[in-house]
Amino acid sequence: MNKKPIVAGNWKMNKHPKEGFSFVDEIQDLLLDINHVSVIFAPPFTGLFEMNVNPPFYSAAQNCHWENSGAFTGEISVSMIKDCGANYVIIGHSERRHIFKESDDWVNKKLISVINNGLNPILCVGETLDQRESGQTDQVLHDQLEKGLVGIDSIKDCIIAYEPVWAIGTGLTAENKQIELAHKAIQDIVSSILKGANDFQILYGGSVNSGNAEDLIQVSGVDGFLIGGASLDVESFTSIARTVEMVQEKKI
Ligand code: PEP
Repeated sequence: MNKKPIVAGNWKMNKHPKEGFSFVDEIQDLLLDINHVSVIFAPPFTGLFEMNVNPPFYSAAQNCHWENSGAFTGEISVSMIKDCGANYVIIGHSERRHIFKESDDWVNKKLISVINNGLNPILCVGETLDQRESGQTDQVLHDQLEKGLVGIDSIKDCIIAYEPVWAIGTGLTAENKQIELAHKAIQDIVSSILKGANDFQILYGGSVNSGNAEDLIQVSGVDGFLIGGASLDVESFTSIARTVEMVQEKKI
C-alpha cells in the first residue's frame, strides 16, 4: 500500500460556517507546498456545504444516517453529504457511541451506506479505561470491528481510527507500544475478517498535538492522525501537518 499519511481534524461542535471557511482558507494557504500528506477537515454539518477545499485537502462529515432520505428528523444522509462535496464520513466516534449510545449495528449500517455511496469512511474504534485496565482492549477492538464490518466485502480506501476513549480530549496519550500493539491487532482482526485485506489505513487519535506528533507518527502501523482539540487552532494543526510531511519526506 502506498497511500499518503492523513492528518484529519475533527472539529466536533465548534466553528460557525464563516469561521470555518476562513480557517480552511488560511490553512490551505499556509500548507500550499504540502505534497506527501492528505489533510481532512471535519466541520459540523453547517460548515460542510460550500467548503472550498482542493486536494490534498478534503472535507469530511462527522456522522451520517444510513438511509438516503425519509422521516428521520434531525438526520443527514450520506447522499446529502456527498452533495456538499465531502469525501469522507467519520463513523462510530466514541462521543457518538458513548454520549449518543450508538450501537455497533448502527455503525455497521452507516459504514455500508458510506461505502455504497462511494465515500470513504473513517471508522473509529477504541477501548475505555476500564476495558484497558481489565485487559479487554483486543477483545473490544475485535467486537467493534467484527460487528462494524458485517456484510462488507472490501474496505479498500477505508480508514480505521484507533482512538482509546481515555485518551480523547484528556491530554493523555497512549504510549507508543500500546498504539503499536493496538494498530497491529486492528490489522490482524480486519485481515482475518476480510481475508487478507491490507489496503486500508489506520490513524491514531487521542490528544495528538504539535509536541507529540513527530514521535507518534513514527510508531509502527500509524498512517496518520485523527485530531480533535489541536485541529481547531491554525498554528497547531499546520504544525502537525508539517511534521507528518517532514517525516514522510525522509522516508521517500
Ligand atoms: C477526537 O475527537 O477524535 C480526538 C482524538 O480528540 P482529541 O485530539 O482532542 O483527543
